[in-house]
Amino acid sequence: MDIRFASKRALVTGAGKGIGREIVKKLAQCGAECVAVSRTQADLDSLKNEVPGVHTIQVDLQDWIATRAAMEKVGNIDLLVNNAGIASLAPFLETTREDLDKIFDVNVKSLFNVSQIVAKGMVERGNGGAIVNVSSIASKMGIRDHAAYCSSKGAVDSLTQVMALELGPHKIRVNAVNPTVVMTDMGRMAWSDPSKSGPLLARIPLGKFVDVDDVVNAILFLLSDKAASLNGLTLPIEGGLLAN
Ligand code: NDP
Repeated sequence: MDIRFASKRALVTGAGKGIGREIVKKLAQCGAECVAVSRTQADLDSLKNEVPGVHTIQVDLQDWIATRAAMEKVGNIDLLVNNAGIASLAPFLETTREDLDKIFDVNVKSLFNVSQIVAKGMVERGNGGAIVNVSSIASKMGIRDHAAYCSSKGAVDSLTQVMALELGPHKIRVNAVNPTVVMTDMGRMAWSDPSKSGPLLARIPLGKFVDVDDVVNAILFLLSDKAASLNGLTLPIEGGLLAN
């Protein structure tokens, strides 16, 4: 399937590493002009070397005011990928207020913040747009030691549905993808121990976790006109795990 984004401007959060970085590379290959947002300047510099023409914005998305100020300057955006996210592991009874605040600030509130500004511009211009929120299979099942993370991704799914409802009439489609484990820095932090990953892997009919490309391809499809009637989806990318 040939997907082209010529004359489209795309913004990707959490673009310095992992899934976000690969999304930017693929969007650029497909002709989009990309704005890459992330926290570590060195990651953005190396991305700029790999993808000439990419615009970069260094901001800590946990900082509501700094994020708002940065987003007000990005200009017209047609495609938005809210990818930035963090995880930390703790049993439910030991999860601290600080952990909870940090995870909800980045995984939920920054998505709210960035989307409000970008979608407002889309509505004002009247040309529609597409937004993909990177959620997780963690929104659809309980995972031990992931209370803060699971609940934050549940919030992402709910927000996706409300955004789809309210922005749909403006020709703005909003969907989410919900991958299982992807072996990025985040995936390795949580799942490198085979005694943890083994039981989860054993429940996946395809017998494997998800490759970064699997997630990137689904996101590009959802951003594209090939998905013109898809709105409000939370799309599992999990090799059949939920079929159990
Ligand atoms: P990585 O940790 O590999 O990369 C995350 C990127 O987001 C980094 O560039 C990081 O920058 C950036 N980021 C994090 N916090 C902030 C912040 N406060 N401000 C600006 N940038 C920030 O994660 P993944 O690529 O694995 O995850 C991407 C998304 O996919 C997340 O939403 C995650 O929840 C989701 N996901 C991941 C899965 C996995 O197993 N890996 C499974 C399911 C969903 P820096 O390093 O500088 O902090």
